[in-house]
Amino acid sequence: MKTVRDLQVAGKKVVVRVDFNVPLKEGKIRDDNRIVQALPTIKELLNKGAKVILMSHLGKVKHKGTPEEVAMDKAKNNMAPVAVRLNELLGKDIVSFCPDTRGANLDFFVSNFKAGEVFLVQNTRYEKGEEKNDPELSKIWAAMADVYVMDAFGSAHRAHASTYGIPEILKSEGKEVAIGYLVEKEVNNLSRVVEVSDKDRPYIAILGGFKVSDKIKVIDSLLKKCDKILIGGAMAYTFKKALGQSIGISPCEDDQLEYAKRCFIEANGRIILPVDSVVTDGFEGWTKKVTTDSPDIPAGMEGMDIGPKTQKLFGDEIKKAKLVFWNGPMGVFEQNDFAAGTIAVCEAIAKIPHAFTVCGGGDSAAAVAQFGFMDKFSHVSTGGGASLEMIENDGHLPGIDIIR
Ligand code: ADP
Ligand code: MG
Repeated sequence: MKTVRDLQVAGKKVVVRVDFNVPLKEGKIRDDNRIVQALPTIKELLNKGAKVILMSHLGKVKHKGTPEEVAMDKAKNNMAPVAVRLNELLGKDIVSFCPDTRGANLDFFVSNFKAGEVFLVQNTRYEKGEEKNDPELSKIWAAMADVYVMDAFGSAHRAHASTYGIPEILKSEGKEVAIGYLVEKEVNNLSRVVEVSDKDRPYIAILGGFKVSDKIKVIDSLLKKCDKILIGGAMAYTFKKALGQSIGISPCEDDQLEYAKRCFIEANGRIILPVDSVVTDGFEGWTKKVTTDSPDIPAGMEGMDIGPKTQKLFGDEIKKAKLVFWNGPMGVFEQNDFAAGTIAVCEAIAKIPHAFTVCGGGDSAAAVAQFGFMDKFSHVSTGGGASLEMIENDGHLPGIDIIR
């Protein structure tokens, strides 16, 4: 695969698909790790005298809603603060921001910026056609580029217009496409959790977080590779309910209950679920907080974190591991009251320095950084869904395969 190292791009317009899908709260960036991770590729291109056009999605824009709802989603996921942060990180005042994703404004940027400058295009998901890999949209975007670089590892599992459509067109036109340094690093590190060698056993996977429907599908294939899977976060409740435990008002994917039950039975003791939980009387504005003494969650209560017995149970499994893959926080770690489970997993991993340990996912990586465990992991991946799918598909991801 060609990398950014191999490119000669002086004076050329290089479209770089980066992953700037950072956790945002009220327009403030909670963790800039994904921007930091994109810097080596951006700097390399600038050093080579390229004109750098950056594209990324940010959050979710639901185009099915009313015009007001769509406008609200767009406002919430405006890319502008990312451009400001990128400019600070590059420290040269060379980054500008195009608030549109097509039209006269974008055309003006494309024809007027110079070698050694960067501009960031507005959130690609402002376009309805992005997630559908709409050919007309891909054509508009591909027309901006002489060269395309894929450095958005966190989005490489999606065949969208900006991750797949653009390079597909450029390739058909005989133009150069390459991967960036971040994608190269991710692929090198993750290959160890994809193709597992015997010396790397026991291999423990830890799953959590909130995006259950995205992640639950991967369990089947994870079971083929891992020795054990520890499940915390919101996914645990779907499993609990499937096994007949009560889950109160905790989130649950009812259409996945059959699947979860089948996975659990087929796993034959290799899926480990929480045995206690920290629960509240609601997600927001809760007034009651209790730690349950059993796997059951009382009526009217919602699970927010794994409990202390589960921390110990998970910790004892992690202790034995030679290889760890972790995606998804164990609880609502953004609030101090529900951070203990996630911290306990970090601490357990910090105690096995000789194991190869990978944590992946936007929020998971943010948690690891926030609690000060960044240097305790062999690799902290910028991709959650992408790393999971890479494991599932034996190393293949559409956004990387199209570059090959
Ligand atoms: P990642 O970005 O690492 O792939 P996700 O996006 O799937 O992870 O999930 C992260 C989110 O999951 C966090 O914002 C966290 O608050 C939330 N979460 C974890 N456990 C729970 C829970 N029990 N109930 C609700 N949300 C949870
Ligand atoms: Mg996330």
